[in-house]
Amino acid sequence: MQPFVYTGLPSRIIFGSGTLSKLAEEVDRLGLRRLMVVATPQQRSSAERTAASLGDRAAGVFAEAAMHTPLEVTERALLIATQMRADGLLAIGGGSTTGLAKAIAFRTDLPQIVAPTTYAGSEMTPILGETRNGAKTTLRSLKVLPESVIYDVDLTLTLPVGLSATSGLNAIAHAVEALYAEERNPIVTMMAEEGVRAFARALPTIVRQPNDIDARSDALYGAWLCGACLGSVGMALHHKLCHTLGGAFDLPHSETHAIVLPHVVAYNAAATPDAMARLCRALGAEDPAQGLFELGRRIGAPRALRDLGMPREGIERAADLALANPYWNPRPLERNAIRDSIADAWSGEPPRDSSGARAA
Ligand code: NAD
Repeated sequence: MQPFVYTGLPSRIIFGSGTLSKLAEEVDRLGLRRLMVVATPQQRSSAERTAASLGDRAAGVFAEAAMHTPLEVTERALLIATQMRADGLLAIGGGSTTGLAKAIAFRTDLPQIVAPTTYAGSEMTPILGETRNGAKTTLRSLKVLPESVIYDVDLTLTLPVGLSATSGLNAIAHAVEALYAEERNPIVTMMAEEGVRAFARALPTIVRQPNDIDARSDALYGAWLCGACLGSVGMALHHKLCHTLGGAFDLPHSETHAIVLPHVVAYNAAATPDAMARLCRALGAEDPAQGLFELGRRIGAPRALRDLGMPREGIERAADLALANPYWNPRPLERNAIRDSIADAWSGEPPRDSSGARAA
């Protein structure tokens, strides 16, 4: 076995169907008395119901969370949190809502309880991405890692099928890049393979039967595992590319991940045989990139960045941006091949094989 370093992150997970009923207990366990509940405008009513169930333990609801954690929203939330005399935060929602709670916690050290409703996995990471005047910055700090995560499968039943599919592929992307991460280690590798397996099993069922509680449980379990991978080891070309594309062309987060992933896997495959063998095993596929592309097709995920509104001229710019700041990737960053991968993702072509040729 290769030598490795593993750092466990402190986190407490409460997992199951109906687990939000444990919320008051959890608030008391953390010694909190006045929670500010944060949500997106779309999930306001769910946040209000949860706040009502907390009685005096809830100080109020702030339902203005938005994608990519804009600083102006965080500043308004900080003001309201002070006015409410909040001593803790409850985030009920997807990555955007968790991002807002983390941004508040980073500035105030308020403890956080997160009840995730998508598969993005932010609740398991010490990472905070924020947007300041349109520019995205990312930081890592244990101050933003939530104290408690309540994974209640029931909260994911309302996640629309399309978003379930892309959010699941977004989570799989964390696991894929963890399998070939520079700091990969046996624990994270196990979590990554199991996370992909759980999603590969669950997503086709969820698309047919969104209320299937077993499939929803599998997917949320996968989200936990894949999120923990993202929190533990560094990511590579796929995350860099999605970050760049999202920022430069204002593309939606999980859809971008869903489209780009098979192409980056094709790019990195020959450099990462062990990771690819695990990925194939987890997907039940013979070829990892084709397997991911096929999974996306089966669950109706979008295929082409042009359908998300990215202009054709953006391909060259995205290739330049992807190479602008050097970072670790298992295969060296080669502009022409990366440009071809972006072009394939733009037009919705299937991924290429390791020689750069397109599969028959
Ligand atoms: P999101 O949180 O933006 O949610 C998308 C939409 O779906 C929102 O309108 C939301 O209200 C709605 N929604 C969420 N769950 C629902 C449910 N169960 N039922 C009905 N509607 C629901 O989407 P996301 O993909 O979860 O998060 C994306 C954001 O998270 C991005 O800003 C991304 O950068 C960030 N993120 C951060 C990390 C990290 O570690 N820091 C990790 C992953 C994602």
